[in-house]
Amino acid sequence: MRTETETEAPSRAACGAESDGSVSPAPRSQSPAPVDALSVDLGLRHGTLDNQPRPAFGADDAEHLAQATPLLLYEPPGQAGLGQVGDSGNHACTPNTAEPTSQQEQQWRERVAAAVCQVPSRINAFLRPYQREGVQAMARALFRTQRTGFVLADDMGLGKTVQVLALVAAILGKTGDPATDLQLAAAVPRGSILIICPTSVLYNWEQEAHQWAYFSLGLFQGARRAQLLPDILRGRYEVVLANLDSIKTEPALLEHNWLLVVVDECHALKNDKTERYRALARMTCRRRLGLSGTVFQNNFREFWAIFNWVLAGAWIPWPRFKREFQGPIVSAAAARRTAEQQRAAEAALLHLAQCTADVTLKRYKSLLSSQLPVKQEKVVFCKLTPFQMAGYQRFLRSDYVEALLQATHNPCRRCGASKRGSECCYQVGTKGCASVIHLMFPVISVLRQLSNHPALLLPRADDDEVVRAELSEKVFEPEDPWMQSMLRNQLTSAGDTSVCGKLAILMQLLARWEKEQLSVVIFSYTTRLLNIIQDALSLQGRTPLRIDGQVSARDRHAVVAKFQARDERILLVSTHAGGEGINLQAASKVVIVDPCWNPARDLQAQDRAYRLGTEHDVEVLRLVTAGTLEELVYARQVYKLQLARMVQTGRTTARAVFDVAMPGEGELFGLENMLAPPVDGSLLEHILE
Ligand SMILES: [Zn+2]
Repeated sequence: MRTETETEAPSRAACGAESDGSVSPAPRSQSPAPVDALSVDLGLRHGTLDNQPRPAFGADDAEHLAQATPLLLYEPPGQAGLGQVGDSGNHACTPNTAEPTSQQEQQWRERVAAAVCQVPSRINAFLRPYQREGVQAMARALFRTQRTGFVLADDMGLGKTVQVLALVAAILGKTGDPATDLQLAAAVPRGSILIICPTSVLYNWEQEAHQWAYFSLGLFQGARRAQLLPDILRGRYEVVLANLDSIKTEPALLEHNWLLVVVDECHALKNDKTERYRALARMTCRRRLGLSGTVFQNNFREFWAIFNWVLAGAWIPWPRFKREFQGPIVSAAAARRTAEQQRAAEAALLHLAQCTADVTLKRYKSLLSSQLPVKQEKVVFCKLTPFQMAGYQRFLRSDYVEALLQATHNPCRRCGASKRGSECCYQVGTKGCASVIHLMFPVISVLRQLSNHPALLLPRADDDEVVRAELSEKVFEPEDPWMQSMLRNQLTSAGDTSVCGKLAILMQLLARWEKEQLSVVIFSYTTRLLNIIQDALSLQGRTPLRIDGQVSARDRHAVVAKFQARDERILLVSTHAGGEGINLQAASKVVIVDPCWNPARDLQAQDRAYRLGTEHDVEVLRLVTAGTLEELVYARQVYKLQLARMVQTGRTTARAVFDVAMPGEGELFGLENMLAPPVDGSLLEHILE
């Protein structure tokens, strides 16, 4: 059955692709006339269901496009379970806080009872079956009690944005009919929904929201913020988009009575001690929705904090969580685990799965495997050049490193006095750093920079990192000709690949891909490394595109569009600035130059290129310097991913890591190992079982 509205449905190549990044959001006029702005901005000119390019949906395509009927979100109260949330096992895993029923709440319940909350057909027609299930799971979880939350944990690329917008449209009573919906947007406000996200994806959310429904939308960003705030607080906007930091700086936003607060990339809250987390925890909002493809990023505390936030502080208390879940599960990751530990971990994982079953939903990208091209991940082991090797060894022999290694030993290893080394014979400090213990991070950072490119260690004009500068002096002989030339700031030296193993490999790869006319995205965590790569490329007459923190959110769209149009085939991206919210399907090669301790960051980077809409196979290459600290960084990634996989699947994994997680086994990621001399060859075989 098709109606007038459906023929005007927005053109979508695929719901899973959150945005193609190529369309700049049209400027919206400000309040008090959101109605006019909406009618102009909606992308109805794109085409109809009949003449638009067919989405690559697969076999069920025709079936669900034909099925353009409203999606029933709510079952009548008796069946939907508006009451008690099921308790699984011994704990009350999800809260059921009875509270006085407000007027707003009453309206909800009436609507639920009347089963009129529906996803408008103009959105529903484009949802894949799993996306509809996602909307329903969120709706059921969010409205079965008065205070509850949910975490949509789908892998990146499965279209969390469109699922949320479908839910939001249903909550706001949107019909899909422009006239009715615009009227609704302009009518007396009945409550607003706040969507909080990283700044880098604000405009994607804005664009998607306009594309899918007729919302009155307040973008709380930039200079207009102060102007917008009174209208927001009066509830003039159905949907308000804000970035994470505005939550910290604008307390009034927190006090507003939102119908629902959505936090996109909610792992960015980190743990419950961060300022962002604390600010959000103070919110009065009863219904909270977290979105993240990687709920387990670094450790159990962060994982726990996400659930504790969505459940408004009413989840399993941390000490109990730590004892009953973290402890047993971590033991099972160790290579020397016992059968008993393995069993305990399996029981804990099962119990954890029960505790989260009602409050989260996770689907994997493999759902779409038949529609996605092949992704291959490779680790490219690069060698240190003799120049780097000499610097690495020279630095490890320095008094700083020795003092650091001896600092925690008690009694003192040099004189035998019963004092910690750092308080006895190893009181080495620097101008910028009083105690040797505080040198740990800078020392590790020097070794990593040296592995990435020696030029990262050169003095900077704007160098305010005294410690780093002092440490760097221990790496090179000042009279080294390359150093001298770099200090004279000769550009050619940066492109000299004989100095850096990684750069040599990277330039070889780029030359090969240029011949094959392949598009490449290169991610790095440091803009200085991007500068070096850019310099090396410009020596060859190439002008790569670039996205870093200096590029505004709006300008990014232009850069991404150029890359997607294949005007230029190399794009340099600062992982911090561009990891989220840009889609780079044109890339068939993704290079991660400096892998991070946190594997999720690297995964996000890859997923920029490998998502729906990608027409070709994608190869992801991580450059790791063999035999050095970097291999430990990579092993750490493997370890964290293993924990994440256990938590997600509820099962222990076959792979295990030596010398980690078990007390008394020595610490793989401890200082002694990280500051060990570089070896010729790979360390990994000694680390992973
Ligand atoms: Zn001593």
